[in-house]
Amino acid sequence: MIHRRIGTADAWFSDRRFGTSRAPFDSANLGRHVGDDPDAVAANHAEFARLAGVDPTTVVLPHHVHGTTVVQATGTDSDDPDADGVDADGVVTAVSGLALMAIGADCAPIALANDGACAAVHAGWRGAVDGIIPAAVAAVRACGAGPVRAVVGPCVCAAHYEFGEELLADLADRVGPHVAQCTAEGKPAFDLRATIVHALRAAAVDDVEVLDVCTVESPDYFSYRRDGRTGRHGVLVVKR
Ligand SMILES: [Zn+2]
Repeated sequence: MIHRRIGTADAWFSDRRFGTSRAPFDSANLGRHVGDDPDAVAANHAEFARLAGVDPTTVVLPHHVHGTTVVQATGTDSDDPDADGVDADGVVTAVSGLALMAIGADCAPIALANDGACAAVHAGWRGAVDGIIPAAVAAVRACGAGPVRAVVGPCVCAAHYEFGEELLADLADRVGPHVAQCTAEGKPAFDLRATIVHALRAAAVDDVEVLDVCTVESPDYFSYRRDGRTGRHGVLVVKR
């Protein structure tokens, strides 16, 4: 696990190295939608929360749909948090002690926080170009105050993200040339990290840290592009 303190929040980025799921979800799969045993996933969520030192019953994990919706968790019912399982790619809160989660397996889990609010965000290429980043930053600003800080978690690097040439050219036209890169073999590639960092900076987030972990390269992380049917790691963000 990788831990960071950002603003008034703590962020923990999980790897595969805990949990009870069997292959190909071994062993710390956090994804409910990938075909794993639901009891194993629930146990993994609880263990991740315990490792992070937070109450497992407060875990809030929206169902990611590669969109730009950010839901707010209010913690009014701690046994069934209101934003858990709804279709959204980000969850924000101003409530202390709630365990906000976002997951991925090549897509990036991202932690955001300012003085008073925090968010957990999922960003793949589609969400990143469509605007999940500015939506999440705006949600954190609406719930809290002060400068927003961000940590971008393990995700696929550009060298391992070969992409269709036509779509890449279209995205470069829409978003900017920074989205386009090349693989080691010189094939067209999408630069997810650069796209996310550019969007964070465009949203006036000054303090951006990018964890230098490629999920395709590291066997400690789940990778959809490497393995196909596999689990999901993620980030857990908690306001102190
Ligand atoms: Zn890589």
